[in-house]
Amino acid sequence: MKNTIYLILTFFIFIGCKSETATNTSSEKTATQTNNFAIIIHGGAGTILKKNMTDEKEKAYQQKLTEAIKIGHTILKNGGTSQEAVIKTIQVMEESPLFNAGKGAVFTHEETNELDASFMVGKTLNAGAVAGVTNVKSPIELAVKVMTDSDHVMLSGKGASIFAKEKGLEIVDPTYFYTEKRFQSLQRIKNRNKTQLDHDDKKAAFYDADIKNAKFGTVGCVALDKNGNIAAGTSTGGMTNKRWGRIGDAPIIGSGTYANNKTCGVSSTGWGEYFIRSQVAYDISAQMEYQQKSLKEATADVIQNKLTKLGGTGGVVALDKNGNMAFEFNTAGMYRASMNDKGDLVVKIYKE
Ligand code: ASP
Repeated sequence: MKNTIYLILTFFIFIGCKSETATNTSSEKTATQTNNFAIIIHGGAGTILKKNMTDEKEKAYQQKLTEAIKIGHTILKNGGTSQEAVIKTIQVMEESPLFNAGKGAVFTHEETNELDASFMVGKTLNAGAVAGVTNVKSPIELAVKVMTDSDHVMLSGKGASIFAKEKGLEIVDPTYFYTEKRFQSLQRIKNRNKTQLDHDDKKAAFYDADIKNAKFGTVGCVALDKNGNIAAGTSTGGMTNKRWGRIGDAPIIGSGTYANNKTCGVSSTGWGEYFIRSQVAYDISAQMEYQQKSLKEATADVIQNKLTKLGGTGGVVALDKNGNMAFEFNTAGMYRASMNDKGDLVVKIYKE
């Protein structure tokens, strides 16, 4: 008799718990708009520690992130499209030597700069991307042109440059991308690798010998405009000492960038090989679409659980159709900023 009562009690407790979860889930599904428009950016994740940062450097990053996000925010506030906001915001960061994108791109093993970028709009699922570009000032602009002015999604190398010229985009001499800081980083890695080549750590021979402590300076932006359209873009120089035409996740739709008005927009930064294998950006959207997860739950699962288990490091910025925003990373820091429709600005570098 006692056992039967316990059994019945356990049954009702179980049902009670279940229905609470269901209520939570459905309340998320019908969540009201948090922000009518919003914008979120990153300037790379990695081993960014306060103890290694000067006040001057910290301020420079904060100022550039603020300048970039305010440009996009003003466009959105004035009724502009998320597409325009993402392009203009990323271009500010591409023009700054602080980030590993555009002007500040890292060097390849051959001491050249090869840039990658991608862009996607959530309304139509249209996308454009470029890889291994050496003389186009704004790779993000070129990625958008591939989307709007070609029948293709991804162009690479020389062909991408010819296309850029034909479309009248600004072409620069490859020396435009030379910065002493990035050049010295390459030399440091090469010298370190020379002493390590006897060891059979193959990855170390190609990239930073201490890649787990690397800094990824890719830039990315996701925006939601007043019409409910999401756009996302990512731009990078890739990884220092890359070889053989290596392409990372940044120009891969679904890995480095993804946008879908039904779910969210995402831009990634981190160790590209792992982001490609994990399909990071699309997985976040898929978890929201097929498992009804919230943006927070989906980004946390993909970065803190799936990517981390695989050994990947980095992070994402993401924004959903209701204007909720998420920063998620498994590194010590990530250059990042967000602004909502009230104009509240968040700029952060370290974990907290
Ligand atoms: N994800 C980029 C790549 O692997 C690097 C970065 O985020 O800085 O090319």
